[in-house]
Amino acid sequence: MLRVAVVGSGPSGCYTAQTLVQRDPAVHVDVLDRLPCPYGLVRYGVAPDHEKIKSLQGSLRTVLEHERVRFLGGVRVGGSGGLPVERLRELYHAVVYCVGAATDRRLGVPGEDLPGSWSATEFVSWYSAHPDAADAGFLRGVRSAVVVGVGNVAVDVTRMLVRGAAELRPTDIPQAALDVLAASGLTDVHMVGRRGPAQARFTTKELRELGGLPGTEVVVDKEELALDPADPGTLPAGPRRNVEVLRGWATQPSAAAVRRIRLRFFLRPVELLEGAGRVSAVRFERTVPDGRGGVTGTGRYEDIPAQLVLRSVGYRGVPLEGLPFDPASGTVPHLEGRVLRDGTPSPGEYVAGWIKRGPTGVIGTNRPCAKETVISLLADAPALGHTDVPADPVAALRAAGTEPVPWNGWLAIERAEAELGARLGRSVVKLSDWDALLGAARVP
Ligand SMILES: Cc1cc2nc3c(=O)[nH]c(=O)nc-3n(C[C@H](O)[C@H](O)[C@H](O)COP(=O)(O)OP(=O)(O)OC[C@H]3O[C@@H](n4cnc5c(N)ncnc54)[C@H](O)[C@@H]3O)c2cc1C
Repeated sequence: MLRVAVVGSGPSGCYTAQTLVQRDPAVHVDVLDRLPCPYGLVRYGVAPDHEKIKSLQGSLRTVLEHERVRFLGGVRVGGSGGLPVERLRELYHAVVYCVGAATDRRLGVPGEDLPGSWSATEFVSWYSAHPDAADAGFLRGVRSAVVVGVGNVAVDVTRMLVRGAAELRPTDIPQAALDVLAASGLTDVHMVGRRGPAQARFTTKELRELGGLPGTEVVVDKEELALDPADPGTLPAGPRRNVEVLRGWATQPSAAAVRRIRLRFFLRPVELLEGAGRVSAVRFERTVPDGRGGVTGTGRYEDIPAQLVLRSVGYRGVPLEGLPFDPASGTVPHLEGRVLRDGTPSPGEYVAGWIKRGPTGVIGTNRPCAKETVISLLADAPALGHTDVPADPVAALRAAGTEPVPWNGWLAIERAEAELGARLGRSVVKLSDWDALLGAARVP
């Protein structure tokens, strides 16, 4: 009987476990996560107001409740205080790393570390109740915000910044974040792309949603759209629809609104400016198309006032101590999911998801990615299955100083979140700190 550890309970970890038990009638899978809660970015990334996508947790749940799958939360692999990769490898016939891409890319411009300048990751983690996130006073004294980037995460944070209490209350957003967002004095969010609308990475569905937010007007500059030489008729369907939506907004009459989302293009950030000890504006250089799909600077500058700057220019994997890592791509080198050590497949070590292919694609993209890895693993299984491994690795985890949070512990957290919601007159409300989560998980 093959025993496999999957590290990470996000979509790629769950799809890996699911494919394993579907394809091998005898395999047993432990899904380990450093958090006491499962589902990775579906719980801690997907925006709270996107309830339909959040409901995917229901199908991931059925995987973790499978009779040959076991969730072990609160188990960190690698890093300080974590279970070493080498030790984990001794406990299972095979280990699949599905640890995601935990950090964000930087802008690399002066002023990036000023108070008031954050990564979208930090802001998302805060409103998603990630236990590592802190209330950094994101919205204190903020009237104008700049979001750098034009992908779906940039759209998410822009939308969350202008959402009002009535729209957020029915979601599972933690109460403290709800209170801060509801009381914010923010009036303007500038979402800014360095290239043109035809190159923006957001999807049309997400973009359109910005046009339907109560009390909020979307403002697009006709002249900026005209800078793009791309003939919409020749564009692929997605970018063409985006340009159509933006053109519609550019020609609509101004409406009476409490808040404005300004979509800006052909501006690249060159510096974050300081005023009164914090960020006060972002200096952008106007760019123009270079004829090869990129842009070039013009030497003309524009300052956009902002007391909050969120950069959303992509995610990056972080190295896991003991595993090889390619710093250029931010991924673990692999061949069809087999981890490569010095260019050679390492027996019993695999990767899937964002740490394997980089931070691209939607949740569903992780399913074929996991399948490829599982096919490799099961092809190797006859050679792997001969190794002696402990009948139950949990005793070894305990001996290594880790007390895993079992599935029942997670169910207890779910109950505590439902009870908190009921006390606040809301539905489920997420617990947002380690003590509260672990306290709830240990309730018998
Ligand atoms: C802000 C944001 C919003 C998104 N919204 C959408 C959306 O609306 N729709 C959509 O289709 N896609 C969305 N995506 C993309 C989607 O979330 C990803 O495709 C998907 O989560 C990647 O899955 P993964 O399993 O590789 O990584 P993750 O979901 O990040 O899961 C990784 C897991 O590994 C665990 N882990 C990490 N390190 C360790 C360790 N050392 N030891 C133990 N456990 C560890 C983490 O705790 C986590 O649970 C969004 C992404 C982001 C960043």
